[in-house]
Amino acid sequence: MSTPRRLLARLRDLMARGEAPLPQLARLVAAELVSEVCSIYALKPGDILELAATEGLHADAVGRTRLRVGEGIVGLAAATGNALNLPDAQNHPAFAYRPETGEEPFASMLAVPVRRAGRTLGVLTVQNRTPRHYDADEVDVLETVAMLLAELLAAAGAEDGAGEGLAGTLPRRFPGSVLAPGLAIGPVVVHGTVHAPRRLLADDPVAELGRLNHAVDAMQHGLDELIAAGLPAAETHDGPAAAESREILDAYRLVAADSGWLRRVADAVRGGLSAEAAVHRVAADLRDRMRRVVDPYLRERLADLEDLAGRLLAALGGDGEAAPVAPGAILLARRLGPAELLDWHARGIAGVVAEEGSPSSHAAILARALGIPAIGGARGIMESAEDGDEAILDAEEAAGASHGLVILRPEHDVKQVYQRVIEEHSARQAGWAALRDRPAETRDGTKVRLMLNVGLALELTQLDATGAEGIGLFRTEIAMLARGAIADVPQQAAVYARVLDAAGDRPVLFRTLDLGGDKLLPGTRPGYEENPAMGWRSLRIGLDRPALLRRQLRALLLAAGGRKLSVMFPMVATVAEFRAARALLLAEAVRVRPAPERLEIGTMLEVPALMWQLPELLRDVDFVSVGTNDLLQFLFAADRGTPALAGRYDLLSPPVLDLLDELVVRAAEASVPVSVCGDAASRPLEAMTMVGLGLTTLSMPASAILPVKALLSGLDLPAFRQVLAAVRRTAGGAASVREPIVSWAREHGLPV
Ligand code: PEP
Ligand code: MG
Repeated sequence: MSTPRRLLARLRDLMARGEAPLPQLARLVAAELVSEVCSIYALKPGDILELAATEGLHADAVGRTRLRVGEGIVGLAAATGNALNLPDAQNHPAFAYRPETGEEPFASMLAVPVRRAGRTLGVLTVQNRTPRHYDADEVDVLETVAMLLAELLAAAGAEDGAGEGLAGTLPRRFPGSVLAPGLAIGPVVVHGTVHAPRRLLADDPVAELGRLNHAVDAMQHGLDELIAAGLPAAETHDGPAAAESREILDAYRLVAADSGWLRRVADAVRGGLSAEAAVHRVAADLRDRMRRVVDPYLRERLADLEDLAGRLLAALGGDGEAAPVAPGAILLARRLGPAELLDWHARGIAGVVAEEGSPSSHAAILARALGIPAIGGARGIMESAEDGDEAILDAEEAAGASHGLVILRPEHDVKQVYQRVIEEHSARQAGWAALRDRPAETRDGTKVRLMLNVGLALELTQLDATGAEGIGLFRTEIAMLARGAIADVPQQAAVYARVLDAAGDRPVLFRTLDLGGDKLLPGTRPGYEENPAMGWRSLRIGLDRPALLRRQLRALLLAAGGRKLSVMFPMVATVAEFRAARALLLAEAVRVRPAPERLEIGTMLEVPALMWQLPELLRDVDFVSVGTNDLLQFLFAADRGTPALAGRYDLLSPPVLDLLDELVVRAAEASVPVSVCGDAASRPLEAMTMVGLGLTTLSMPASAILPVKALLSGLDLPAFRQVLAAVRRTAGGAASVREPIVSWAREHGLPV
């Protein structure tokens, strides 16, 4: 019988007899690992590790030998959460000598933290006289025993009131970019974490293996279906694209079928663990290995394996993916798509931290719409955090600066400061709430229209909550991304009618489907694209697949049912494209009765080329809405989704201000209304500057309406226009004119 299996079988017997297990457990482990010493340290209140049982050290040291977390090898294993495997422990810089233990003769030491749900409950050690490096199997056995011990210590801790254990390791800070502003404090939920199983040992390894095999089959079958669903879309495109899609999916399937990790899970089951515990054990080991691997390709493969472990647990019926999260929980994810974010929002997360993701990605836009503070580009945080660790998410945008910070396991004092700031914020927001029913205008009485950007029916309540004057951008694709498929005409019409009903007399600008780029529906990836943001996306898809666009236009006309209807097209690059899209709308409008009382057809300005077609464009359109997210990405040739470029180019810069200025002047000459619906309009300083340029209709997420209104109410517009003109005149090739604008606003007591 193998060592782990024999050991686990004996432990099972021991626990079945209900004996006080710690001393016996220490004795058994020492015997099985052929070690002279095995000791168990348990965490006590005050972050003290106390020797709770030992085989091989002096018995009267039990209950007396104590080490602070971080002190000695034992304290170090607890503080770092990592195993320490030391042939010559006594010469390790962290070694702390405790004479009462009588440990002088023992040279080598293996110390393994005892962790449960991300918290350290103690440390398990073995020691030997001869200097030796413990091999991988021995480390594996000791870690398996530590998993079992965690359950015993947790149960004992619950009885003696010792609390929940030590949360991870030391405080860590991760800078990132602000995706959605705000502050949050709460326990983290690591996306893709495999939760600790309830049942650790199985009485009948053969039956347990049967369960495992069954679950492996179910998981692989599920993957085959998933892959089959993904492939037809790829197959409609020939050549390298289809081949590559197939290669990627096949590679994933190979990883899923890889006998290596499945064999390790099966071995652990043969050793006496339950199938869930065995998967958990192997997944935990993979995570440890992932922390050490540098090669990005291998890291991804290990990440795939971790993901598969989650699927296997789900197949075993042990997964609680859709359960609500703890109040105030902060989600940590490698990257998030808009639909995933919606799922987590439904589960109640209060903040999001992603290792990747930039402020103009659609998940970020959605986070702002939902009012969930979010930070992107926080590299390395997934590997440092455990479920349940506490974190502070600081995504406050000081004067438009986009630097965010995540503090993992914050110090007590730091946490207190942030809690105070959060309380002050709520108080300030309560003050802003008084602004809700006041019209948006500058101090000198210039009226500004503040509108909402929305994409989901659940956001419609924000119309009344913020006092917005209407909906300046309804992103029709968001609801489809949320449900994972394109809705049919009656379903779409029902959604749009609800929007119009909720808006009442207030205007609504519907934008037609803007799919592609980073907004992909499952199975709709349009083959390989070098540059998806500039690829086959948005109106380009609509014009090439006119049936899709016409169905949407019909749904919009049906929803209007005789009311006024405003429709705009995204990503228009030529007047000809606008005309083609408008022709489709007019063709549908002839067929749908009752006809809308008024039909306004406009364009978004996102592609700079339109600026050189203004005379013709302005003759044809009823309105223009500037999408600064895409406009800036194309103007500066800077991908909006690349975190390293976030904040590199500024809207408050001569080329953008000149462009907007020119647009305002020309549109006024042509009597065409212009609004801004890109996210820049939601930042008070940018909003103020746009108003300074004469852009007085701004559309933004709900969370921005009151802060922007508050700033504008204190703005002396004629004075600011003079300052802005002077700043632009004297910019002299500066990459940004933010600094002088911020200074002026501060000097005038404006809340930026
Ligand atoms: C924009 O590009 O500014 C815009 C409003 O559209 P989206 O962010 O949905 O691409
Ligand atoms: Mg856009």
